[in-house]
Order: sequence, then structure tokens, then C-alpha cells
Amino acid sequence: MRIGVSLEEAQEMLLQKANMVEEGSVSLMGALGRVLSQNIRARENLPAFHKSPLDGYALIAKDVEQAKPSHPVALEVIEEVRAGFVPKQKITPGTTIKVMTGSPLPEGADTVIKYEDVKRTGNSIYLSFPLKPGSNVIYAGEDVKKDEIVALKGTVITPSLVGLLAGLGIAEVPVLRKVRIAIISTGDELIDPAKEPCPGKIYNSSLYNLAALCGELGADPIVMGIVPDEKELISGHIVKSLEAADILITTGGVSVGDFDVVQDALRQAGANMIFWKVSMKPGSPILAAEKDKKIIIGLSGNPAAALVTFDLIAVPVIKKMMGLNRRMPPRVTAVLADNFLKSSPQRRFLRGKLQAINGTHYVKLTGEQGNGILKSMINCNALIDVPAGSGPLCAGQEISAIIVGNISDTFFEMEKEIS
Ligand code: AMP
Ligand code: MG
Repeated sequence: MRIGVSLEEAQEMLLQKANMVEEGSVSLMGALGRVLSQNIRARENLPAFHKSPLDGYALIAKDVEQAKPSHPVALEVIEEVRAGFVPKQKITPGTTIKVMTGSPLPEGADTVIKYEDVKRTGNSIYLSFPLKPGSNVIYAGEDVKKDEIVALKGTVITPSLVGLLAGLGIAEVPVLRKVRIAIISTGDELIDPAKEPCPGKIYNSSLYNLAALCGELGADPIVMGIVPDEKELISGHIVKSLEAADILITTGGVSVGDFDVVQDALRQAGANMIFWKVSMKPGSPILAAEKDKKIIIGLSGNPAAALVTFDLIAVPVIKKMMGLNRRMPPRVTAVLADNFLKSSPQRRFLRGKLQAINGTHYVKLTGEQGNGILKSMINCNALIDVPAGSGPLCAGQEISAIIVGNISDTFFEMEKEIS
């Protein structure tokens, strides 16, 4: 076991050990938020055939090249086609077919003219101006070409991708299985929020917060509940969790107190320790272990510390297991909007809200920064990375911030492979 590693070392050690879950498939209705396990290639052109973008008449542009208001050209209407039907006849010189928005372009035609732009009398239409060949035609493959890759393996399925897949006739989507994340809260003092308040006890907030974060990531939380600070009990829960889940997150009991027994419980459960203590504040007592190729991350019990270390250390691991291409949270350089008067002998992460004002990124602190201050996580979308040895920080100075939560995707560069 390594004791006292840097954040980057901790991330790297766990990413190396994390395994991607297996692939399967899901129907389109259940595909939102899932991760693609294969590149998606269009089997057909989209649209599949040339079609009309408006209600009008399909014709051969050459037929009307001499049309003028003083000398209109007449064409004979030989058929009408509704959207969803195929024209029976071919257009030959001097003829036209009435089409609706979305009708296939009749064979022989190269152009469509709007209803409003012709005069119709009986079975003839009269055009008083010429059209460029190809006017008002939607070409097959104009949206997506056959064999084009429309989405990359390792990306999240968005509502617009669901729509595009449907448009391409893809009803079953190859995805990775959801990652199952067991969560255990350790602590004699914890009670469930559904219970009556009790002297000396506190409500278990982290379990709910972490389960919600796992759900938001697109994983399946397996809530194992509260376990008192007893090695045997915690060890039993660790074994049970690992039978049901791909990864285990615990909170509490990882520091040096008399009842901080998670490390002993892990050993008793047969897990091997990977590291303990990361040089950062908050959340430094975090530990990681491994059993049967499954990772266990033990977070400090202090709620804000637990959440910051979850974002910085657990989320990249979970994202790798989910099969996501983008695992590490993106960073931005921004301007600090508040003073922070404490010195930081140790590397420190401050909770903040990143905002763009008149084209500049600012990070405003989300309030008190104590370890247990839950309120500071509300509106927190960025963690200011304060290097070890920094003095007080002043409003207006440049800082580096790590983007967390579901806005982080906005700050990644576009995937290179798809234009
Ligand atoms: P520990 O890491 O067990 O020493 O806990 C540090 C602090 O966090 C203590 O004040 C605990 O009462 C508190 N704490 C531990 N677990 C939770 C939890 N699940 N929800 C809220 N507070 C917690
Ligand atoms: Mg405790």
C-alpha cells in the first residue's frame, strides 16, 4: 500500500485497475444516457431517396428555361403524389407531377417549383420564370451518407442521437451494461432521514447524495445502507456488496480515530490496500483497495470532503468502467470572484460556481468551505485547485478550476473523429 499519494497518482493507480463492463444492447426508448459500445455507422442514406421539401410541381428545369412573364411555359400535370407514396409515372419533357412536402422526387424530374409560383388551369400549369436545375430538391444522403459514422463508441447517447438513430432505422443500440455501484455509509452516529431525530445522531446525507450522483452519471447505485463502526459488520457488508456490484464506495471511518475501522474491515474481507491518504484538502484520509479485481474507494465521512473526493477520484474510475472516452474532468483557467483569506499549506480544492460573464470565466465561492458544509455543494460546478504553499487568494486573480458535474461535457473539445 502507498501512503500519501498525489491526486494524480491516486487517479492513475485506480484508472489502471478499472475494467470496462460488458456490452449488450438496448432498445431505442431506453437508450438515453447509455454509453455506446460500438461506433454507429449508417446502413442507408438519410434521406433514403431524393424528395421534395415543399408542396409544388416536379419538373425538368430544361423544359422551362425560356419561361418569361410575357411568354409562360405550360406543362401537363400527369399525376399527384402524396408524401409516403411513390409516383407511378415518369416525368418526360413537357410534363409535371404534383408533389407534397416529403414526396419522393418523380423519376425524370430534377427540380420542384412551389405551388404559389405557378398558375394552374385544368391539367396544365404555367411558369413565368426559369429555375436552376436542382432547385427545391432534397437529395438522398444529404443529411447522412450511407456508411458514414454518426456516433462514436464511448460517447453518451443524447436525445438528439436517439432521434438520429431512429431516423436511420436503428432500433437496437449497442451499449455497455450499466455499472453497479454499491454504497455503504459507516458510522455509529448515522440514522436514515426517514427516522425521528435522536440525541447524538445525525442524518445520513452522503448516502443519498452519492446515490443521486451515481444515478446522474448513468450508473446503478446499490444502496447497502448504514453500518455501525464495527469491523466485523463492515467486513460482512463489504463482501456482500462486492458480490452484487462492480465497485464499492464507502463513507466514514477512514481516518486515524479509535473507531475508524474501514481499513481493518477491508483486510478482514480479503481486500488488498492500494493507497491511503491523498495530499489534498478536503478528503485527505481517502483510501482505495481491491478485491477480486473490483475497486473499493473509502471516502472520508465529512459530507463535503466525501463529495469532492468522489468527483475527483471515484468519478474518473466509474467513467472508465462505463466505457466513456472522456474520464478526466476538464480544467479551465478563470478569474476568482471572491477573496479566500486562508493560506493553503496543503493542496486545497475550493467549491465554486463557474460562470461566464461578458466572455470571461469567473469562479465564485459557494460559501463556507468547511469539510462538513453541505450547502457549499449546492451550485458547485467547479473545484478551484489551490496549489500547496499558496497564501491568501484575492478576488481578480487567475486560478485553475476543475469542472465537475454534468456541465463538464460542455467544456470538453469536440470529439475529433466526427466533424
Ligand atoms: P468520519 O470520517 O467517520 O470520521 O466522519 C467525519 C464526520 O463526518 C463526522 O462528523 C461524521 O459524523 C460525519 N459523517 C460521517 N458519515 C456521514 C454521512 N454518511 N452523512 C453525514 N455525515 C457523515
Ligand atoms: Mg466515523
